[in-house]
Amino acid sequence: MRGDRCWSVEKRSWIALLLGVATGLAATTARAADCPGHPDALGTSRVLVVDPREHPRIGAMQYKETLPLHDHEVVLTFDDGPLPKYSNQVLQILADQCVKATFFTIGHQAQANPEGVRKLAAAGHTIGTHSQTHPLTFNKMTLEQARPEVDQGIASVKAALGNNASALSPFFRVPGLLRAEAVEGYVGSLGVQMWSADFLADDWRNISSAKVYELAIKRLEARHKGILLLHDIHERTVLALPKILHELKARGYRIVQVVPATANRPATPTEPQDWLVHRPSDNVPVAQWPDIPSFDFTGATTHLSLTSTDVSLLSSGPTTTRRAARETAWPPVTSPASRQTAAALPVPAADLFEIQAPIPRLLARHDALPAQPLRRAAKAARRPVRVASLRKR
Ligand SMILES: [Zn+2]
Repeated sequence: MRGDRCWSVEKRSWIALLLGVATGLAATTARAADCPGHPDALGTSRVLVVDPREHPRIGAMQYKETLPLHDHEVVLTFDDGPLPKYSNQVLQILADQCVKATFFTIGHQAQANPEGVRKLAAAGHTIGTHSQTHPLTFNKMTLEQARPEVDQGIASVKAALGNNASALSPFFRVPGLLRAEAVEGYVGSLGVQMWSADFLADDWRNISSAKVYELAIKRLEARHKGILLLHDIHERTVLALPKILHELKARGYRIVQVVPATANRPATPTEPQDWLVHRPSDNVPVAQWPDIPSFDFTGATTHLSLTSTDVSLLSSGPTTTRRAARETAWPPVTSPASRQTAAALPVPAADLFEIQAPIPRLLARHDALPAQPLRRAAKAARRPVRVASLRKR
């Protein structure tokens, strides 16, 4: 009897092992087959189905919850497109590696380049939204001001998708990660998931593509998994991406695509604690983790609300020069492609793209950086930046 049970257990173990090997082989085969002509592609290892209503706010940089990724799993996200010049190159690089990502598109960009949005859908990527005009004031707006930005961004991307509007996922990322409680409440009421990020590569700043690569890998290695925020509107990102993907594969990382649950597609089974940035067992001093830290993309120094690890990582980047403080994630408004479609677009008000960088309020309270550069950065941040001047750089 006992011997039978042992044999039975042993037999089941062997069957499980063989099934596991077979499944692994099948997965590998499927990935290779899915990427014809690219046998060494990184591939997309699995699809994670999430229910935005169960987990309305995600991203370790700002929230208590983030995606329930396993060790060495990475989710790639790209903001601010589509901008044909660079977005198309990003799409080609991802296609060559059979990697699926999530794109947080801007409504205005979608209006200027609807074909770019349709390309994302045709390539099977996940599409979210990122407001209509990318104002870097979401943290100061009234809900009445913020709501049209959210709504119109969604409407513009849906319009670009036409009869394939269901390809738009209920995912939203606030410009500059400038979160606000009222906006989060509104977005949540729509059944839309707020996405922050787990780590950045600073690709909106005036740094080299080598630095973007270095930061992406360094910060990933500090976490061993997570949501990486990039921008598909910068040359430096295009140049860094192939190297980042190559290195991910070399270091044993796997790409996960995230899609929303639907009536026919239930959420991937997870446990509540899988979503916690810090499980109760994690030995992390509470003081390092403010409940929902503020974040400001527009001034490098306001990263200081992050963890001490983040701060030390971020401080390895460019210092808070006047130039760095003025940089934004907003792309040039009139790309060659959008110029072609300009006649079909409403003429924006003269000040529509005037980006008033917020004064980094946290600077004065942080004594780890010298005071003089901080004062210069704050002064620079008060100056409005016109897109025309951004374009020159
Ligand atoms: Zn953005």
